[in-house]
Amino acid sequence: MARRKLVVGNWKMNGNRAGNVELLAGLKALGPFVADVVVCAPFPYLADVALSLQGESIAWGAQDCSAHESGAYTGEVSAAMLAEFGCRYVIVGHSERRAFHAESDQLVADKAKAALAHRLTPIVCVGETLAEREAGQTDVVVKRQLSAVIHTLGHCVPQMVVAYEPVWAIGTGKTATPEHAQAVHALLLAQLGAASPKASDMRILYGGSVKADNAASLFAQPDIDGGLIGGASLKAADFAAICRAGV
Ligand code: PEP
Repeated sequence: MARRKLVVGNWKMNGNRAGNVELLAGLKALGPFVADVVVCAPFPYLADVALSLQGESIAWGAQDCSAHESGAYTGEVSAAMLAEFGCRYVIVGHSERRAFHAESDQLVADKAKAALAHRLTPIVCVGETLAEREAGQTDVVVKRQLSAVIHTLGHCVPQMVVAYEPVWAIGTGKTATPEHAQAVHALLLAQLGAASPKASDMRILYGGSVKADNAASLFAQPDIDGGLIGGASLKAADFAAICRAGV
């Protein structure tokens, strides 16, 4: 059976309260969607977003969480705190956090585990840099990144969502071809399949300059189950068009 598409908007560090009201109102007016739709907002706006999406079919999530339960971790936000507000999803291991905050594969895996402990669905990002791609290392890199998560989550592996995001495609306007993305997704699915008999139910998203005009060809690939959308999630009409693509 085909997996239901999932489209996740990653607002990154963008927006303001008034702008968010407008964006969410636009999105709600353009829905409902056949695909599952999630918006991941900056921490200070999550309570507003939760209120705005009450009773709607659009879910919301955070862009990161701590690997720790609680304690002296200034600036961090725990999975328990997110769960207390009704959060359902959290992105972990985004390449911007791996690059700018030196997050290791193991830290990303620990964050995914912390999320699951509080019934949040971790959206675990993996992806190669341009240098790694040019060195022919794509497969090795994504398998290494995913392997840390698989080993840490154990039997909980099927509860996560994986997002393949080639770093060279994020925010650059350079999208992976559907064929390239599909080949990596198939590889990731095989790796998940070796770890869990339930892997065929899991969703693997593609992210990296997905726009309204290229989403359908990406989402038509057999192992691409939706998208993680950055820039194009900031405009309601663009994001809604992506949510409708391929379903
Ligand atoms: C992202 O931030 O996860 C992303 C894919 O960004 P963009 O769609 O802007 O490339």
